[in-house]
Amino acid sequence: MCPSNHNRAASALFRVIGGAGTPCLAEACQHATGNDMHVRELRFLALWIPLTAWVATGSFLCRWMSWPAAALLALPAGFILLSLLPLALGGRSPVTQWRSWLLVCTAWALFHRHSGAVAGFFAWAWIALFLLNAAACFWLGLLKIPGRIANSGAAWRMAACIAAHLCALAAGAFFGWPWAVAGGACLAALYCLAVLRPSCQWLGPVRCRTDDGSILITIDDGPDPHDTPKLLDLLDRQQVRAVFFMIGGKAAAHPELAREVLRRGHQIGNHTMTHPQASFWCAGPWRTRREIADCQDVLERVTGVKPRYFRAPAGHRNLFTHPVAAALGLEVMAWSRRGFDAVETDADKVLARILTKLGPGDIVLVHEATPIAQRVLEGVLTAEGML
Ligand SMILES: [Zn+2]
Repeated sequence: MCPSNHNRAASALFRVIGGAGTPCLAEACQHATGNDMHVRELRFLALWIPLTAWVATGSFLCRWMSWPAAALLALPAGFILLSLLPLALGGRSPVTQWRSWLLVCTAWALFHRHSGAVAGFFAWAWIALFLLNAAACFWLGLLKIPGRIANSGAAWRMAACIAAHLCALAAGAFFGWPWAVAGGACLAALYCLAVLRPSCQWLGPVRCRTDDGSILITIDDGPDPHDTPKLLDLLDRQQVRAVFFMIGGKAAAHPELAREVLRRGHQIGNHTMTHPQASFWCAGPWRTRREIADCQDVLERVTGVKPRYFRAPAGHRNLFTHPVAAALGLEVMAWSRRGFDAVETDADKVLARILTKLGPGDIVLVHEATPIAQRVLEGVLTAEGML
């Protein structure tokens, strides 16, 4: 067996061919001296990419000259193309270069798949190579094979997402635009499910239940000068400890309340800096990081304690939430019972929703800074005491 951390292949395909869990040739485990690449992959790509560049340039030049002249002229032209394109695309690591070549060559292949015999063969071969790589990405992502690249679950989720979109585009290119639209719609529906369903684990692990079977009360959207002191008194009376998911901006405005929550023995959690509940699901990587990291900084500055849990506004995460949270040492927490008390004004209806089926291991979500916050918490605490 070849240990996976010795497999330095740049492409997902060669990481699968010569990777962990697959018996492989001794040669596949060796590295090409000096450039840290998988030797079999290096040999393949060193032949395949120049050949493709030659054929692509030659088939382009064929429009103006006979094919022998085009083939001859394509040699230096292809060489220049090979030298310039990686520079233009950027990236000095073998992985970045490989990805650039894969994208460029697959794009060329999609436009030239109906070309003459030679160019058509190379075009289809690149399309096949692209699909094999997409399949290898899924394979590595699904199996979570440890290794330099596959170690990051987030990277493979992103790769799978990009590969799925490219497959939809390829379907459009092959079978017509309705297929691309249908593929895009299916992907959009799956993405909506992944980001809008708070307990969905597709984007990364989400805690929805407690490990020890106890019921955990979590209180979102504070601290609030009107509600927080009264909620703390209610919790004290029942001797229950809760997690307060605080908004960074509110904690900065009321630092004494954040400190008081900790002083009374509760935990604080990160609930973003500004609570952008309408747009967090589609936030980009920088905004996601800003929202989570800024809140973490504020909470740590005003309380001296680093929060351990993160909860997204309305539970809506995006593609970057889990990598950012993991980088900041945060565990993403959702809930298993809620009563929609942020939008519902009838406390009885809210309590009915929460308390139906409430049982061991449940994580209960309630909000502060609402007109019914105290009545809802009181109802939950009373019911919990009776369980
Ligand atoms: Zn919230």
